[in-house]
Amino acid sequence: MDVSGPLLLLETDGVPGAILSPINPHRLTKDQLQQWLRCRGLTVGGTKSELIERFLKRSANKKLCHILDPGFENGKWLELKRQKLLRAANVNVPQKPILPVTGWMSFPSNDIPTMFNEGHIMHYIVESTPAVLPSFIPRSHEEGDEEDDDDEDTDPREGSIEAFRRGKRFVKSKFVLNVKDRSDKNYYYLKGEVRASMKLEIRNVTATLSAGSGAVLDATCTCKARALGRCAHISALLLYANQRVVEYGHGGKYVLVVCFKEMVCL
Ligand SMILES: [Zn+2]
Repeated sequence: MDVSGPLLLLETDGVPGAILSPINPHRLTKDQLQQWLRCRGLTVGGTKSELIERFLKRSANKKLCHILDPGFENGKWLELKRQKLLRAANVNVPQKPILPVTGWMSFPSNDIPTMFNEGHIMHYIVESTPAVLPSFIPRSHEEGDEEDDDDEDTDPREGSIEAFRRGKRFVKSKFVLNVKDRSDKNYYYLKGEVRASMKLEIRNVTATLSAGSGAVLDATCTCKARALGRCAHISALLLYANQRVVEYGHGGKYVLVVCFKEMVCL
């Protein structure tokens, strides 16, 4: 399978505004130009002539012209394209668990899966990186996008071992904040905020674990490397949960309160 496949924008992908005809940019509206640029991870600020200039510059680059930004709309389109390609190749694509909207409480409100340990994190971050990892991902600042000064985030092409190590440093530096969790019969869900290195910016991170095996099934982050579900911030959130397990065991607060009440009743 062509590894750059998931990133190549086609008319049939249905990514809104990604492919435009006619290509004469002067006939396009500002909104159309912005959407076209946005899909490609380019900045959308400035006057219409600046947008047109950016449009023409990218259009002239035959290699990158129709390459989707992996982080566009939280990586939704990359994931859809990836699944479509895998299905076309007859690979069974497991359905991802859907993150609940309500019912979150301060971590650890629920029991953390008893099998969960650092090995699961290492496996998810380092070893299970998708096989369709894009071999080249356009860096927006190669085209002079000074607004996108985001290099504190893990680059998607950077080694995932480094993401794991950076995650450990983030936990040590207390960069993991406002962690919440909830669980149901099959899954244990985590979400939290991770400070982006020395900056004050916050990355919102989520992770879903299997309640039975403790394996990390899915994770998301709002940073640039998020599309593949593996970055230093995701590592940090998972390692934060693991630190709690190492220090206090797998039990959540809720359970401790119940046990205490039972003890009182006795
Ligand atoms: Zn991230």
